[in-house]
Amino acid sequence: MLPDRFVARLRTIYPDRFEKILTTFDAPRRVAFRINPLKVDPDEALRRLRQDGLRCEPVGWYDLAFTLPSDTKEVLVRHPLFVEGCIYIQSLSSMLAPLVLAPQPGETILDLAAAPGGKALMMAAMMRNRGWLSVVEPGKDRFFRLKRNLENGGVTIAHHYMTDGRSVGAKCPAMFDRVMLDAPCSTEAKFKSYEPATSAYWSERKIKEMAKLQNRLLHSAIKSLKPGGRLLYATCSFAPEENESVIDKALRKHPDLSLLPIDLPLANSIGGLQSWNDRSFHPDVVRCVRILPDESMEGFFLALFEKGKNDG
Ligand code: SAM
Repeated sequence: MLPDRFVARLRTIYPDRFEKILTTFDAPRRVAFRINPLKVDPDEALRRLRQDGLRCEPVGWYDLAFTLPSDTKEVLVRHPLFVEGCIYIQSLSSMLAPLVLAPQPGETILDLAAAPGGKALMMAAMMRNRGWLSVVEPGKDRFFRLKRNLENGGVTIAHHYMTDGRSVGAKCPAMFDRVMLDAPCSTEAKFKSYEPATSAYWSERKIKEMAKLQNRLLHSAIKSLKPGGRLLYATCSFAPEENESVIDKALRKHPDLSLLPIDLPLANSIGGLQSWNDRSFHPDVVRCVRILPDESMEGFFLALFEKGKNDG
């Protein structure tokens, strides 16, 4: 069962696709994972997995990503390659965020909400462990989990900070070439109708609280970005208050920011909403991307900013 009010809102967000989208909450997806080239040769990893009877299917749009049947997850988490940090279980939509931000070797990168570290691990691999990667997480248990995951994944360029992301922009103004803000959110895209615990704490009040935090985290992220730098904002929520509305506010408040188009080779993506509940958003918000949940991917929201070179 999903909360009635959540379902009613989903209908207003996706009026034309509602019935189909609703069915995606009812069945588990295939397990997706990524090979970590910092720890293992990808061909060797695939050979070992296949030798152990795991029939990995490539995803097509990213050569290090594969999927397995959903009931293989327990086998995968006990596999030596997983235990040694050579593979990382991660939803396919989550992998899009580092691909869109595209950190380069030698750059200075900030991951402002980093635990448990899936995107930070992927960014370190894309940077080939060259450059500087600051990772921020305020929750103590989650911080140590993040640290363990990065160490186990062979990341040597990470600098860990147990602090509130809202304070980082003031402490480190204009320091980073690229910033990842995979914001804390209402996690609506992770709800499962067959696991009521996943949506037990959902409420519209929580959405409002999250939006307030997201606005402040984004403000901090923008401050920490160098002129000419790029910032990726992402959530796994469907709520326009946590997505288009946050982007709209940032565009209106920071005239030096622009939204870049995001080009993805996926059929299950649409642009950001232009309006919702009688509220119209900044015209550029259409450049955001909503990943529509389907049988292979969870819903996701992505927005890519660039900071102008002339003012701060
Ligand atoms: N990027 C992570 C990954 O790929 O593994 C997932 C990040 S998760 C969506 C959001 C994270 O933000 C959570 O670990 C949460 O504890 C953290 N968080 C919550 N409040 C925060 C704050 N004020 N500053 C920074 N991070 C915060």
